[in-house]
Amino acid sequence: MSGHSFNPIESLANIRHEFGEHGGVNMSIEASTTFTVLEAGTMPKIFGGRLGPDTGGCYLYGRHFNPTVFTLGKQIAALEGAEDGYCTASGMGAISATIMQLCNNGDHVVSSNTVYGGTHAILNDYFPKKTGVQTTFVEITDLDAVESAIQKNTRVLYTESIANPTLVVANIPGLSEIAKKYGLTLVVDNTFSPLVLSPIQLGADIVIHSATKFIGGASDTIAGVICGKTEFISTLMDLHTGSLMLLGPVMSPTLAFKLSMRLPHLGLRVTEHSRRALYFAQKLEESGLEVVYPGLPAHPQHELMNELHHPDFGYGGLFTLDTGSVKVANALMEHLQNEHRFGFMAVSLGYFETLMSCSGSSTSSEMTEEEQREAGIKPGLVRISIGYTGTVEQRWDQLKDSLREVGLL
Ligand code: PLP
Repeated sequence: MSGHSFNPIESLANIRHEFGEHGGVNMSIEASTTFTVLEAGTMPKIFGGRLGPDTGGCYLYGRHFNPTVFTLGKQIAALEGAEDGYCTASGMGAISATIMQLCNNGDHVVSSNTVYGGTHAILNDYFPKKTGVQTTFVEITDLDAVESAIQKNTRVLYTESIANPTLVVANIPGLSEIAKKYGLTLVVDNTFSPLVLSPIQLGADIVIHSATKFIGGASDTIAGVICGKTEFISTLMDLHTGSLMLLGPVMSPTLAFKLSMRLPHLGLRVTEHSRRALYFAQKLEESGLEVVYPGLPAHPQHELMNELHHPDFGYGGLFTLDTGSVKVANALMEHLQNEHRFGFMAVSLGYFETLMSCSGSSTSSEMTEEEQREAGIKPGLVRISIGYTGTVEQRWDQLKDSLREVGLL
């Protein structure tokens, strides 16, 4: 199976234009937290779930569906080829609400062993204590291991499409087959590869994003989104059992508007992130350094990536460099930031500037040393999210000089 027949850019362009209140070319921001009804008898129908935004146009309350947030959700859903979507206050808000919605006390999750540190922590530490939901972590490329980890009470199969920070590429069609066979919901965090991969089109049931990253693109907002079937999105807002309605991690309408203004150029940005990441990864590989990037033929899932990705958007904006030790990693990042202004020594990704962090001691530090070793996260591994400011030649000179200064070249 491949996502090639689906075009995310055409899909976004095809969805209904939202006009502003006065015919503006941009949608209006619906700032109200509460919505009036003309007849008192309407209220019980809304509370009874018989009248909502998709059945009669009645909105209820800002923590329930908000029109502006709903529109952004539908736009991102269109980009993902999903039926529907809704936006959350953060990526973690999207992940926690989704797992809480799909699992009850005593249920079980099978997850990739290489996921964002916060996701690992919530599955490994928080949920077992607070909800009784247990997780088994597996090598996600080993489909036999995935199948063997499934128990009678397993409800969710969880992975990142391109893993943080190892850049392992998940075989989404293969995982989807397993999920279908055992009646599981396949949840894919597509934060590293919006537009590059379309997990729903490849067989995932639910796609999550930390929109803090590429979708936001400016490292100025914390945001998330959940895409899936309309029925699932509605259950998140159920007045008795909805994780978004009851736990409340929804997005504000002003932020939804701001992010919606950035979707039209997401494709241009991702293309340039990917173009530059491939250029630097190739240069580093030619220089004999240990670089991992899904666009390099040496990447273990390069062939799979070629089958699954949308070629126009490349292989994503991140690569990793194994510097051999934390000491060298830290020295390299200091030179890159402080001497050469190549980028910032900071967590996060998808920014227009380059961001670099030593994953083992930062965004994966929630994992023990052994868990990091099993997941392939070496202590000197530097994760680099390539930005698109400056010229490629200027940035390569800065990178080359820094590598020389710390003895890697
Ligand atoms: N998913 C991935 C892959 C991430 O890298 C992150 C954050 O780094 C998150 C989820 C969490 O997102 P947020 O920081 O928006 O809550």
